[in-house]
Amino acid sequence: MKTIGLLGGMSWESTSTYYRDLNEGVKQQLGGLHSAKIALYSVDFEEIEKLQHAGDWEATAVILADAALKVENAGADFLLICTNTMHKVAPQVEAAISIPLLHLADATGQRLQEAGIERVGLLGTRFTMEQDFYKQRLVDKYGIEVLIPEPDEIEIVHRVIYDELCLGQIKEESRKQYVDIIKHLGQRGAQAAILGCTEIALLVQQQHTQLPLFDTTAIHCEEAVKLALAH
Ligand code: GLU
Repeated sequence: MKTIGLLGGMSWESTSTYYRDLNEGVKQQLGGLHSAKIALYSVDFEEIEKLQHAGDWEATAVILADAALKVENAGADFLLICTNTMHKVAPQVEAAISIPLLHLADATGQRLQEAGIERVGLLGTRFTMEQDFYKQRLVDKYGIEVLIPEPDEIEIVHRVIYDELCLGQIKEESRKQYVDIIKHLGQRGAQAAILGCTEIALLVQQQHTQLPLFDTTAIHCEEAVKLALAH
């Protein structure tokens, strides 16, 4: 079994989901007392969040590149960045290490393609929804059209991620707002919605909406387990 490298703590609420899902995935495949081999480096998210909102992505790249190297040196065979947003600095992280990166947009794009989805709604942080580093990869590599919520909806989705989900707060009122925003994406032509922030599945699950959901955390973990167990 290969060792899965995790760059986590963004936020730790979702990294704990990664830790559980990876171990459950390996246990499901191998049975018994088998568990995933994992090397995890978990950052202080307050530092990252301040730099994100100040627009200092280069400083976040320096922190993450250094952390990724530590994960590699701890014995990881490949790396997962456990957040969609920080894939903004994936090129700098990849340049710092010699192990491969399992890119979250690729894992998601492949899954959408397999499901025959051609037009998808994207929920995530403002950075993920508005900037090109993530959604353009879905367009360019997988030919998928990406719809983002309306400006007032983007506000809500972004605020709930940082003020609630990353702090472990799950509120019924916010769930209702998310469900309405997902429904609206469907009305505008989306055939499915990407939960493109690793905390969103803590709030919204498939039972809350009719539009098919693609949870990036679950997809990332499933692909990592496959890769770890591949011969
Ligand atoms: N975990 C979130 C994501 O997947 C947001 C936290 C962050 O900004 O890294 O985008």
